Amino acid sequence: MNAQRSSGRGEDLARSGMDEPGSEHLLHGEPIGAGFAIGPAFVVGEDPSLEPEVRVSRLTREQEHARFSEAVERSIGQLKKLQNRIARLPEETQVEIGPMLEVYQRMLGPSRLQNSVVSRLDDGMTAEAAVYEATAELADLMLASRDERQLVGEDAAAAERRAGEFREIGRRVIRNLMRESFLSLSNMPDGAILVAHTLRPADAALIDPARVAAVVTEDGGSTGHTAIMLRALGVPAVLAVEGLLDHVTDGATLVVDGYSGSITVGPSSRTTRQARRQVAAYAQERQELGRMRRLSSRMASGEKISLQANLELPAELPLIAQSGAAGIGLLRTEFLFINAETLPDEATQYDIYAAIVSTMGSDPTTIRVLDWGGEKQGEALIRAGIVGRDSINPALGVRGIRLLLEHPDLLETQFAAILRAAAKGPVRVLLPMVTVASEIVAAREIYERVARRLKRKGIETGESLPPLGVMVETPAAALTAGHLAQYADFLAIGSNDLTMYTLAADRASSEVLALYNPLHPAVLRMIGEVLSAAFLERCPVSVCGEIAGNPRLIPLLIGLGCRSFSMSASMVPRVKQIVRNISYNDCRLLARRVLAETDIREIGRLLDGFQHG
Ligand code: PEP
Ligand code: MG
Repeated sequence: MNAQRSSGRGEDLARSGMDEPGSEHLLHGEPIGAGFAIGPAFVVGEDPSLEPEVRVSRLTREQEHARFSEAVERSIGQLKKLQNRIARLPEETQVEIGPMLEVYQRMLGPSRLQNSVVSRLDDGMTAEAAVYEATAELADLMLASRDERQLVGEDAAAAERRAGEFREIGRRVIRNLMRESFLSLSNMPDGAILVAHTLRPADAALIDPARVAAVVTEDGGSTGHTAIMLRALGVPAVLAVEGLLDHVTDGATLVVDGYSGSITVGPSSRTTRQARRQVAAYAQERQELGRMRRLSSRMASGEKISLQANLELPAELPLIAQSGAAGIGLLRTEFLFINAETLPDEATQYDIYAAIVSTMGSDPTTIRVLDWGGEKQGEALIRAGIVGRDSINPALGVRGIRLLLEHPDLLETQFAAILRAAAKGPVRVLLPMVTVASEIVAAREIYERVARRLKRKGIETGESLPPLGVMVETPAAALTAGHLAQYADFLAIGSNDLTMYTLAADRASSEVLALYNPLHPAVLRMIGEVLSAAFLERCPVSVCGEIAGNPRLIPLLIGLGCRSFSMSASMVPRVKQIVRNISYNDCRLLARRVLAETDIREIGRLLDGFQHG
């Protein structure tokens, strides 16, 4: 947190239940961490500006250099201490926070930042001003590049995070130069709710989830490091709450609902009683979810359901192992291309795939070849002259398999790396954005040719050729799934794109958010058709879009005939819990009712009314 503890702590820390009904006040923000909490607010005030007033130093250049070096050393020491602290936190939290602390330390070593500060010191600036200007400049450059490259979604969020990292490290060094103390949470009462204008990622790392009931901030967004960390810590949290600090005084009782993003200030006794029940139920749910990992994913009626994980970055691997997922159902390989300056060669790709496949042991890894296009844009491909910067409608252009077949060298390299990695464990290969069978035929021809070449050269691959499957994510593929299944070894339903292309609503646009709804009967019927067609063709099929990790939709998808799901690793235990408590006949009945409906709201009501055992 960038803040100083506000004075005048309220007298009454436990007013809960004492307020008159009607005196409570409701605020809303962005829900970040699931769960409920009730407790007294611990308010931390605004951060004083660290912008230095004096730019020109009265000290010698050597003295300013020495001050800067000392502040850097102190900052590194503090970051190392933080690193030791997080070693005691749950593994998934370490995975989120560890890399960020390393980034901060790298920034303080020989880096663009250091060069930029040093040249300002050489010009006679104070160390505070040099650090402030250098970090602000680098942060602005990140944001300018985001705008220039028209980044959206995850890429834009990554650029914003990087900009935030520059500002954050600048703040730390300046505080150390000014000997400004950092806020300590040591005097925060156990079970209090942290209320701040902004919570910095490095401060979020200091939060002990056993002591902090919840976090609420006025600033922040759902894709920032702070949000990612609070989620990983499992702390109920709501960010971006407008007017928070105007309405919440220190010590006031708050009820925080991390699911809906609501905050009740000064709850009535009725609200308090209800919140207490929710808090207890949530604590029990978390305990049960922790135990899910080792349990089977069989339905109450006995059917076996396969639950796998999607992987977007190798850093997620430890989470997958912890989640109890039975393999990787979708490894999106775009991460190798999106932020790369040059195209990854076969050796680079092989090293990464082989490491992942080895880690997964006997569980299968489904590797999808590059799905460039739509909102996924890759600098490496632009630099290599494979694609242009602008396309009138990238989602409908040369995307996914279309691009790979236009540039077979790209596909050959990726196939070769994957086939070699298959020597390390079970692998499946997946083709994105297929609309016609001829694309599968052409890709398979290349696939088999690459496999023959590797064999001829005596290069080790798997014992047999890994299955080659197809993403069903366009209406064209969905409505001809039975035909495609004759050419593919398995199908994977990509509901994210299938929803977008069916409803003509961009999945990345907030303007058509209300229209982008996978519960639209057209989408659900299409998914049902694909599952039935795959069943008739005896072709394995799974669902791997976001709906596969949505607890509300699991009974419906099972009722439609889905037996295999791939989702974000964090959702596997929750989905497993649902699967174990429902019976196949109830799911069938639900699916039949839903398919007979044409009204999205009514479909939603049917799903909400389904009894989970
Ligand atoms: C999908 O479209 O549902 C899918 C899984 O692919 P992606 O989200 O990577 O486009
Ligand atoms: Mg897709």
